[in-house]
Amino acid sequence: WEPAPRDMTGVNRVVTAISGGDDWLIVTHERPDGDAIGSSLAVAHILRSLGKKFTFMVSEPLPHRFSYLPMFDTAEMIASPVVRTYKRVIAVDCADEARFAPVAACIDEFAEIVNIDHHQTNPRYGAAAWVDPAAAATCELIYHVARGLDVPLETGLAMCLYTGILTDTGGFAYPSTTRDIHQIAAELLACGVQPYEIAEPAMQSRSWEQVHLMQMALANLAVSNDGSYAALYVTRGMIDGAGATDDDAEGLVEFARSIDTVEVGMLFRETVDGKVKVSLRSKRRVDVSRIAQTFGGGGHARAAGCTLAADLDTAMTTVVEQVEQALAEV
Ligand code: 5GP
Ligand code: MN
Repeated sequence: WEPAPRDMTGVNRVVTAISGGDDWLIVTHERPDGDAIGSSLAVAHILRSLGKKFTFMVSEPLPHRFSYLPMFDTAEMIASPVVRTYKRVIAVDCADEARFAPVAACIDEFAEIVNIDHHQTNPRYGAAAWVDPAAAATCELIYHVARGLDVPLETGLAMCLYTGILTDTGGFAYPSTTRDIHQIAAELLACGVQPYEIAEPAMQSRSWEQVHLMQMALANLAVSNDGSYAALYVTRGMIDGAGATDDDAEGLVEFARSIDTVEVGMLFRETVDGKVKVSLRSKRRVDVSRIAQTFGGGGHARAAGCTLAADLDTAMTTVVEQVEQALAEV
């Protein structure tokens, strides 16, 4: 069994584009998760292996739990004003161009953008796009890019790819989990990946501040009368009170989704700039990416997000209305 890319033309497009440039800017989405960081650093490994120059630009420090990844420290904080602009950009795991807006200042107006992603809402922006919504993780696509470029799968690269695959499949549990992705994971193990050395820091470890925030958020978790949806919220006061960061709210939505009767789980988090970040999760029937899109967001059928310029109460009422409507239609 050879795991094969579903869209050969897509891989080839991206492989040709990357071969044609020697100096690249790597960008991913803000508040990057395991797949965003794994794909970015995997691309960094690939470019280094090809003898090309790269800059991995970020707008905030990467979550420390991924610091076991080789080349973690190559991530560069964007300077203001920017030192230089780049003409060639590889965007990974970014559903749209707004997702990398915080680093857009260092991208040339006429830059060639290579867009590698697996969000179904991706509009296929850029000069060379490969978007495969059936991919379990952007790291699955980067694996095929590495193969297409004949880059050897050394342990460091394999660790980056495994991190994105493990985290974006929820530990090989989400419906996106396929025979191909297990096959690729097995090959990454053959390249020296130690699963526990990645699963423990990336998925099983939490700071006390994060658990403290979790305690507070679980106290307000509420379920609808019919049990079909559940929501919880995180205010600035809770984050500050726990000494936690915005990133520490990641994963809380799973508690809402995990309730056995629930189809749609929601998390509402106040942002520093007075908006509300919404995370949506579903189990089987509701396409939450369509709900997120009605608010200018996006994502996948079972995991999506959006940001509302509203106060917490208004945001919750507005989104719950859409969720009730979606539940009534399925
Ligand atoms: P989360 O709820 O964990 O922030 O995001 C869930 C999924 O939805 C992720 O795949 C993420 O990339 C996507 N997503 C979250 N927020 C947005 C958004 O504002 N716009 C778009 N296009 N996708 C989003
Ligand atoms: Mn992803």
